[in-house]
Formats: sequence, structure tokens, C-alpha cells
Amino acid sequence: MRHPIDWAEIERQCRAILPARGVVAARQELLAYDCDGLTLKRHQPPLVVLPETTEQVSAVVRLCHQQGVPFVARGSGTGLSGGAVAETAALVIATSRMRSILDLDLANRRITVQPGVINSWVTRAVCGEGYYYAPDPSSQVVCSIGGNVAENSGGVHCLKYGVTSNHVLELEVVLPDGSVTRLGSGLAETPELDLRGVFIGSEGTLGLATAITLRLLRTPQSVAVMLVDFTAMESAGEAVRTVTAAGVLPAGMEIMDNFTINAVNDLFGRDEYPRDAAAVLLIELDGQEGEVAAALELAESLCLQAGARSVRRATDPEDRALLWKGRKSAFAAVGRITPTYYVQDGVVPRSALPRVLAAIEALGRQYGLPVANVFHAGDGNLHPLILYRADEPDVAHRVQELGADILRLCIAAGGSITGEHGVGSDKRCYLDLMFAPDDLATMTLVRQAFDPQGLANPGKIFPTPSSCGESTRRRAELGSGRPDWGPVELF
Ligand SMILES: Cc1cc2nc3c(=O)[nH]c(=O)nc-3n(C[C@H](O)[C@H](O)[C@H](O)COP(=O)(O)OP(=O)(O)OC[C@H]3O[C@@H](n4cnc5c(N)ncnc54)[C@H](O)[C@@H]3O)c2cc1C
Repeated sequence: MRHPIDWAEIERQCRAILPARGVVAARQELLAYDCDGLTLKRHQPPLVVLPETTEQVSAVVRLCHQQGVPFVARGSGTGLSGGAVAETAALVIATSRMRSILDLDLANRRITVQPGVINSWVTRAVCGEGYYYAPDPSSQVVCSIGGNVAENSGGVHCLKYGVTSNHVLELEVVLPDGSVTRLGSGLAETPELDLRGVFIGSEGTLGLATAITLRLLRTPQSVAVMLVDFTAMESAGEAVRTVTAAGVLPAGMEIMDNFTINAVNDLFGRDEYPRDAAAVLLIELDGQEGEVAAALELAESLCLQAGARSVRRATDPEDRALLWKGRKSAFAAVGRITPTYYVQDGVVPRSALPRVLAAIEALGRQYGLPVANVFHAGDGNLHPLILYRADEPDVAHRVQELGADILRLCIAAGGSITGEHGVGSDKRCYLDLMFAPDDLATMTLVRQAFDPQGLANPGKIFPTPSSCGESTRRRAELGSGRPDWGPVELF
């Protein structure tokens, strides 16, 4: 049992560590930290601090350690699983004043940044020299590198180049007792136990990353983008399957459904994508000129064989950017139609895409909630957007139940409950649908090795009896066999 925390005293001690502008305690200012991109769940923290240096982070975390104060790291707050929210009273440590590039080492193709640096700033800093940073979440103009590390974020280009963990060479980390350590060594491979890999994707539960060394890639010689449109979603899924099966590895392959296409066209006030298409598929190919030209031909003919109605190739870099702009603005476009939607994130094998998408549509009808689909098709990483009106009675419950049913479909199809948005607080109750109690106990032991007091981002990732009693009971009832996932038959 923890002692009650004297927040006035914690604030006083934080003020002694940080500059005046580094402590946020006024009620109206704390409102900005009451949720992340998952707006369905809000909890206002008692106190927020904005450190500027590793030393300040370390001093604040040491204070938390000494006083038994839980803390939550926060980057830009764009996470979609409630990870950066202080669900139980906790000190929020936001990195939005840690936005410096610390070192640029082009000879070794690496850059070291503070955690609050925005993802797209990394490429902006090096593109003039012919380099870029590959992981590109759709939120890349606002999300932080620290948040990307904590979530092991993906993006359009992760199909070919891999997710964040493939691009982080070294981390400086403030551990939950306030000590500072380094994980990794700036080299691609080193012989020790891979604690850098353990930290990436740990969602702030093992400490705070305060400096991150990233791998840079050479800008490809040639890039081509094509927009393929389909009158049936199944054909779009089939095109994804056949293109990859033929050995073509696009840099990105993204699908938008009819609902999203129209939302994006409305946002831009012009018909960038065919309004009557059931789905559009964007394919980007990059590499040496000859290689890209050959892959483009092959991918186009495979898409037509799969049932594509038309193919449009981008003619120049501006046209290319325009085709991608709609995809990158898809969430915002849907946000214009409904101020409230819930983004689900699940993974299925590519071959299951058409069946799972049809089942999701049926589920949406059953729950009376529209579902828009825009997703990283090449990775089988779905992002169904469940649209709802916050003033409808019992809507939060229905939205969450539909979200849970979608995850059950993903698992039944051999997939996962998250592809890139993390577990956070939102999905902790579904973790035991994928992992046995022994697996969860092992993961908990790793966490305890870093954080014996359980102060770093408490209540995230792991199911707890108080928040997930029902889910735990259900698993116990289901036993170890594959359960019947309820009303919608998948196969
Ligand atoms: C419109 C939109 C599109 C998106 N598209 C994508 C996408 O394509 N791919 C994708 O992967 N995600 C996507 N996301 C989700 C989100 O942007 C990513 O998860 C992103 O990495 C979160 O970064 P952030 O800085 O906002 O982190 P936050 O939301 O502030 O925090 C996320 C988690 O990271 C932890 N954390 C933050 N900083 C640190 C640190 N320095 N050390 C340790 N832990 C830390 C927090 O405690 C929390 O658990 C999207 C979100 C939105 C709103």
C-alpha cells in the first residue's frame, strides 16, 4: 500500500530542480495533458514537468524514486493507446522542451537527438546531404522520436525498411531510480544481451529515453508511386498478395476504403482519388532506376490481373507528394466528418486481409457504428476507424466492444492485437488473449528488473486484476483451446 502523495511538496521540489517554465501545475494548463490521441479516455494529471536536459530528467526521476511517486513519460501525446496519460495520479514528464539535435555523424550515417525531436525534423536535418530517416508514422510531423522508440512505431516505409527498432543504434536512458545508462553502442551489432531491443517498444515502463542515436539511410536514386483503383476491396487485397508474392518489395503499400477516399477528397475540395472506387491502393517503389522501372511494370500488370480498374503513375515529385498527402491526411479527413472516432490497430497475415475486412464491415453493421479503413496493407496492419458521436447513450461501451471484437478477428486470423500503436492502457486487457500466464509473468519479471517499485508508467501494457478482472476470468473459462470469437464467423 503506497502512502498518499503530497503533490504540493512534490511541486515545490520540482521547482527547485527545473526552471520556472518547467513546471505546470495550473488546472487549466494541465487540461492539455489529460489524454493522448485516444480521446475516449481522459485523466488529468496532478502535475507536469518539462525538463530540458538529461540531468534534469534524472533529478526529477530520482525524486520520484525517493518519494514513491509514479511517473509517466510523454512526448507529443499523439499515441493511440493511452500510453502517455496518467491514469492513476502520477507525475507527467513531458519531453517537449528536449528538441535538440545533439550530434550529426554523416560519415557513419547516424544522428543523435533528444527525445522530443519531431520525427520529420530528422529527415529535414539531413535531406540536403542526401540522407533520410526511414520510419515515417503518418503522424510524423508531430510525433516525437522518444514516443516512436517507446511504441516501436511503424509507418508507410516500414514494409521495406523495418520499424523503429531497426533504426535505433543507441539509447541514453534514465532508469526508474534516476540513474543514467546507455543501451547499445552506436554500432549495428554488439555481442551483449540486447537491452536496447528490450527498451524499444516498452512504452515508458522501463524508464525514459533522453538521447537516441538513429541510423540514417541514403536517399534512393529513383522513387515511383502509383495509385491503383478497385471496385472491390477483395481485389485490392489480392493485388497486395500477388505483388509481394511475386518478389516485388515496395517501399510502401497502403489501402484506403471508399469512405476514407471520399473523406479525403472532401477535405481537399477536389477529386484526387476516384470517388466510386471501393478501395485505392498506393504503391511506392524505390531503388536504382532500372530496378524501379522493372518493378513498376510488374506491379502494374499484377494489379490489373487482380482486377484493378485503372492505374495512375505519379508524373513528378509534386504529383507523388500529392498522392501521398491524401493518405497521410486520412485521419484528419475522417475527423472532419466526426469529431470523435476510435482508431483500432491490429495485424493479420496479408492473405487474410480481404476476409477480415469483410468481417469488420459486418461487425460495424451489427453494432450500428460506421467503420472506415485505411491501413498499411503490405504489413497486414489494419487501422479500422470506428466513428461515433460522444453524446449517444452507452456509446463508449459499444465502441470498445466493437474494437475488442475486431481484435478477436485479428487473433483468429493468426494476427496480433497491435501492430504499431502499442498496448498502453487501452489494450492491456487483451494481452492475455495472445499470451499465456507464464509469458506474462516472464515479461513482468523483466519489467521488475528495471523498475522494482513499479513507478514507471504504472498500469500500462500488463493486465491487472482491478482493471481486467473480466478478461482474466474469460481467459480462465476459455481454457487453452482457440475460442469461438462470437457473432461473426471469419472462416
Ligand atoms: C493521425 C495519427 C497518425 C498516426 N500514424 C501512426 C503510424 O503510421 N504509425 C505508428 O506507429 N503510429 C502512428 N500513430 C501513433 C503515434 O503517433 C505513435 O505511437 C508515436 O510514436 C507517438 O509519439 P508521441 O511523441 O506522440 O508519444 P506519446 O503519445 O507522448 O507517448 C507514447 C508512449 O511513449 C512513451 N514515451 C514518450 N516519450 C518517451 C521517452 N522519451 N522515453 C520513454 N517513453 C516515452 C509514453 O509514456 C507513452 O507510453 C498515429 C497517431 C495519430 C494521431
